[in-house]
Amino acid sequence: MTTSVHSEYDYIIIGAGSAGCVLAARLTEDPHTRALLLEAGGQPRAREIAIPAAFSKLFKTAVDWNYSTEPEPQLQNRSLYWPRGKVLGGSSAINAMIYIRGAARDFDDWEQLGNPGWSFSSVLPYFKKSEHQQRGPSDFHAVGGPLHVSDLRYVNPLTRAFVAGSTEQGIAANPDFNAASQDGVGLYQVTQKNGRRHSSYDAFLAPALHRPNLTVLTQAHATRIHLYRNRAFAVAYLHRGRSHQTRATREVLLCSGAINSPQLLLLSGIGPADELQRLGITSVHNLPGVGKNLQDHPMVSVGYLCKQPVSLRDAASLSNLARYLLTHRGPLASNVAEAGLFHRTRPNLPVPDLQLLFGPAYYRNHGFDTHPEHAFGFGPTLITPHSHGEIALRSSDPLMPAAIRANYFCAPEDLRVIVEGVKLARAIAHSNAFAPYTGAELHPGPQARTDADLEAFIRAEAQTLYHPAGSCKMGHDPLAVVDSQLRIHGLESLRVVDASIMPRVTAGNTNAPTIMIAEKAADLIRAHSTAATGETRDSGKL
Ligand SMILES: Cc1cc2nc3c(=O)[nH]c(=O)nc-3n(C[C@H](O)[C@H](O)[C@H](O)COP(=O)(O)OP(=O)(O)OC[C@H]3O[C@@H](n4cnc5c(N)ncnc54)[C@H](O)[C@@H]3O)c2cc1C
Repeated sequence: MTTSVHSEYDYIIIGAGSAGCVLAARLTEDPHTRALLLEAGGQPRAREIAIPAAFSKLFKTAVDWNYSTEPEPQLQNRSLYWPRGKVLGGSSAINAMIYIRGAARDFDDWEQLGNPGWSFSSVLPYFKKSEHQQRGPSDFHAVGGPLHVSDLRYVNPLTRAFVAGSTEQGIAANPDFNAASQDGVGLYQVTQKNGRRHSSYDAFLAPALHRPNLTVLTQAHATRIHLYRNRAFAVAYLHRGRSHQTRATREVLLCSGAINSPQLLLLSGIGPADELQRLGITSVHNLPGVGKNLQDHPMVSVGYLCKQPVSLRDAASLSNLARYLLTHRGPLASNVAEAGLFHRTRPNLPVPDLQLLFGPAYYRNHGFDTHPEHAFGFGPTLITPHSHGEIALRSSDPLMPAAIRANYFCAPEDLRVIVEGVKLARAIAHSNAFAPYTGAELHPGPQARTDADLEAFIRAEAQTLYHPAGSCKMGHDPLAVVDSQLRIHGLESLRVVDASIMPRVTAGNTNAPTIMIAEKAADLIRAHSTAATGETRDSGKL
């Protein structure tokens, strides 16, 4: 990748993840716009990145920031593992590829919280702008965009049983979670192209790499954003052990994700002044909300032995590998979590609060635990959390990971949703459709009978579904960090553009909405730049 870096660019984009790749590609469509994209990770070379079923093999490797939370008070003080992509493509290069936009109501709520332009009808065009939908265009979908949204090339028989078993339990079939309603059960669509992962890098950045006005620097870890008075004008970063600084003549665009974006703001003296002073960091802009409002989707794994040898246990056999490499088909084209359902655990809820994922495989402890026999599992997940956590600095050292406090289940109603989810998973596992397959329950296990038993199981085993968001939220309340144009309150030439700006985490997987945020941001930035150029021209006339 390019290593010759100029001393200044129009835009410096920090982080080549789901959002950063979109911004870099969209802004440099204009050949007169020069952008530098800094990425702490490297090239997406690992073979497991492209192979859908191998995503968990990337955990705790060089392409993972390999974060852990602080001891979680409601989870037996366990420190939870949080993978995050550290590679071109960011977390979209290591995720499970499920394409879910969220409930229309999520975005209408964002707008009602004081963010004009973010209602569902306002953001739908941006979802569609990105999209190349395998099923063709419709009111909700589009073709011709860079991001391939595909039906799964491989669907396991257990997944078909899950869909049938759920309908037996009264859950309506939903062939498209990204259309009029999210409720119901169905197969997921995935960000794959011809059976291979289609990350934000693959879809947006790779086709733009040849542009002379785009410089991409990998292994470049941003350490500070420099301000002059209230204007961001330069970024400091480490590259191959040496410190560098590059100027941005128009804007600095922070796309480092829900953990690292607030961390970099704090390191730059932008955040709660009292907390920064305690760490010996000079406060340059007191903004109490930086790092607050962190939200995530917790999940627990409910597992069963499978009476028939049909699970993904042997997905990586030599014959399957050869089949995949030759045709991009077969079990290795599975994203493991092949299907799911969205369900309201109380009838009066405005949107589903439970997402129940299904995988024809043993998946416990992020896939690190294995089982010698065929097995399958459900992942009841809370998608409308009331608990909030925070990202905070441990020290002023930019290379030291931030402290992550998820505070899962600090709001008591959050735990109840997953308890209901475990019960629903059990009912589906004992439906007629699963009769040929369901063996002994592995976890929580038959000894867990009462709600109290299930709560204890969840406290002992809950993990992240990998969707942290909200830590630099958009809005106008005292904890808001950016306005509805994603500009940092009180500063100029500095925006945050990634999952951290969500005022509330969407009720579903977070990759598609993050890409949408960046698509919209690109238009906001271009409009701002055009207006500024016009102003300069006008003032020149005077
Ligand atoms: C294991 C896993 C499974 C998931 N499964 C799904 C799924 O199936 N479907 C779905 O919709 N969502 C899924 N998600 C969530 C989704 O991928 C994320 O919400 C989304 O990728 C977030 O995008 P982002 O741009 O905010 O951050 P990221 O994509 O994480 O990008 C941040 C980028 O910034 C870089 N960076 C950070 N700090 C610095 C720095 N100081 N200097 C330079 N670069 C820096 C990082 O290396 C990274 O490349 C999953 C996530 C994970 C981790």
